[in-house]
Amino acid sequence: MTGSGFHPAAVSFDIEDWFHPELLRGHVAPDDSRSVVRQGTHAILLLLERRRVPATFFVLGDVARRHPDLVRAIEAGGHEIACHGMTHRPLWNLDRESFRGELRDFRAAIRAALGHDRAVGFRAPTFSLDRSTAWALDVLSEEGFRWDSSVFPLRVGLYGVPGAPLGIYRPSRSNLARHDPRGALVEFPVAVGALGPLRLPVAGGFYLRALPLALIQTTLDRIARRRPFALYLHPWECAPDLPRVRLAPADAFVTYCNLGTVMRKLDALLGRYAFMTMSGILERYAPLAPAA
Ligand SMILES: [Zn+2]
Repeated sequence: MTGSGFHPAAVSFDIEDWFHPELLRGHVAPDDSRSVVRQGTHAILLLLERRRVPATFFVLGDVARRHPDLVRAIEAGGHEIACHGMTHRPLWNLDRESFRGELRDFRAAIRAALGHDRAVGFRAPTFSLDRSTAWALDVLSEEGFRWDSSVFPLRVGLYGVPGAPLGIYRPSRSNLARHDPRGALVEFPVAVGALGPLRLPVAGGFYLRALPLALIQTTLDRIARRRPFALYLHPWECAPDLPRVRLAPADAFVTYCNLGTVMRKLDALLGRYAFMTMSGILERYAPLAPAA
């Protein structure tokens, strides 16, 4: 633990453009050339450099292919590069072989940008790893990945694995929500707090935007006294001019609410906890080789 009595924390970013999320898909014209991924990622990199915080970047292969210099800037900042798939299609829309193709295309895009590829961590688009897509763990392991951060340990809207552990564990092949010391991959779920029987998502994205900072900090303090936690955000949440499209009211709320508060909240959290990359935390807390 750090001097404050807190375990170390991780901050992660899913590096995708504003038109990649499921709620936007279908609402953006194919010839819409607006992009915010460069602005948003550079704003994040600047803040991390000022706070001297190393982070984990789940890069989408499609972004790496279009913006190889952005991948080089992330690496030059001393950050960890991990995988967010190639096209942002959720696992629900893939099978074993098309998912394998996504991972290989991602690795090719990273190698083209960096000349090497050392990614061992994965986060599924839209947290789409659930009981119906648990086959993806086998493919990840076969393709050289060693840990995953796709289990959202609470059912919310489109996604989630109710009853899954809140801390680091090894998912059982037969039950994603159960720990198995022989499991091939380590799971590092994003931060969800427990208030009695209630689970409160505070890890980032919409939840970080919608909830007041004081409630987020109180909940994260409580988690950090027990175990490491992981936050997540997207560059489109950190870019000043996110393009607006017409969405159903609930979807518009999830996408656009409190965007102006993100950098201030992130800055406050970066100053409050001691951060390591997700791989760094896992090497310390959950040896990456499976138990014999
Ligand atoms: Zn994503």
